[in-house]
Amino acid sequence: MSTSSTARSIIATVLGLAVAASASCAPPAPRTARGDPIERSDLVLGTVCTLRLLDGGSEAALDAAFARLREIEDRMSANKAGTTVAAVNAAAGSGPVKVPADVLFVLGKALYYWTLSGGAFDPTIGPVVKLWNIGMDGERIPSVSELQAALPLVGAGSVRIDGAASTVYLPRAGMLLDLGAIAKGYAADEVGRILLERGVKAAVIDLGGNIMVLGKKADGTPWRVGVQDPSDDRGSYIGIAELPGGTTVVTSGIYERYFVGEDGVHYHHILDPATGYPVRNGLVSVTVIAESSIDADGLSTTLFALGLERGMALAESLPGVEAIFIDAENRVYASEGAGSIFRLSDGAYTMATLP
Ligand code: AMP
Ligand code: MG
Repeated sequence: MSTSSTARSIIATVLGLAVAASASCAPPAPRTARGDPIERSDLVLGTVCTLRLLDGGSEAALDAAFARLREIEDRMSANKAGTTVAAVNAAAGSGPVKVPADVLFVLGKALYYWTLSGGAFDPTIGPVVKLWNIGMDGERIPSVSELQAALPLVGAGSVRIDGAASTVYLPRAGMLLDLGAIAKGYAADEVGRILLERGVKAAVIDLGGNIMVLGKKADGTPWRVGVQDPSDDRGSYIGIAELPGGTTVVTSGIYERYFVGEDGVHYHHILDPATGYPVRNGLVSVTVIAESSIDADGLSTTLFALGLERGMALAESLPGVEAIFIDAENRVYASEGAGSIFRLSDGAYTMATLP
């Protein structure tokens, strides 16, 4: 029997929201100036999504934002029947499928991170993800022969995109797209865009711990966003980042979806496209701070897959991107710019530097 983390993480996510809100939001603003905050939570994109409007906006703005979240889920989920991604997957080896522009955009970004990571990030990891089923019914350790059969189907280099026709073609039967490492970030960007268009001046977008802060707090101080403690339930933080509006904080971690096998080993959901096994490089999480959430999401998975040295070097090479790596020895490594915006709380973790 394996022990699933799914139930635990969903409950923890809900509990975490209250803490996330108190960590990241202003104290109640004077009603006359800003009105009461409006908040709504719903289960979308496989996680609890909470939108908290602190200045401007309306129930109609929330309706529009949640409608867009559901539309993104209906197009980009690999785990749901009837989505655009499911149609592309079903047509693998037989023909191209016409897709909406947003699917093409997200896939294009995923392919960019595939290139940037030298293949460590791969949106065609689907056949391997499906074998493990981590966080879903039927999660299990695949046999070596199953993995050997699935691995040749992984390889984003063979995905064929026709931009003019807006089609995607997976050339071999059995190939499966999985945009799970990047779609939530795109969704956060889209919610941000919609809220701003609808007159929202300050808000916290929380898509299952993928955070974006918009606008200015009532008291003019920076937003305070917690960096998740990987060894604790959601809502416990190792430290706080102080950030301007228009910033997103996205974490990839081994605690997010995992199970413990009969062998006592912790199997998590970030998989190595070269071996088919969960990435084991001594990291427990990587947090990315940036302006664009699709990039932060793509990068959090990319940096995790690359490991501390190569991941940090990549983060440092990208303007406007900061990263915080946590390893299994409770050491915390921050990129140069993150050093000035992130402060570690008292606790089990210590700041460390790369040699
Ligand atoms: P994230 O939580 O953003 O790091 O994304 C993890 C999810 O991305 C997993 O649950 C899989 O659906 C998918 N995934 C796993 N390994 C990889 C990989 N090496 N490259 C791209 N996507 C991956
Ligand atoms: Mg990601």
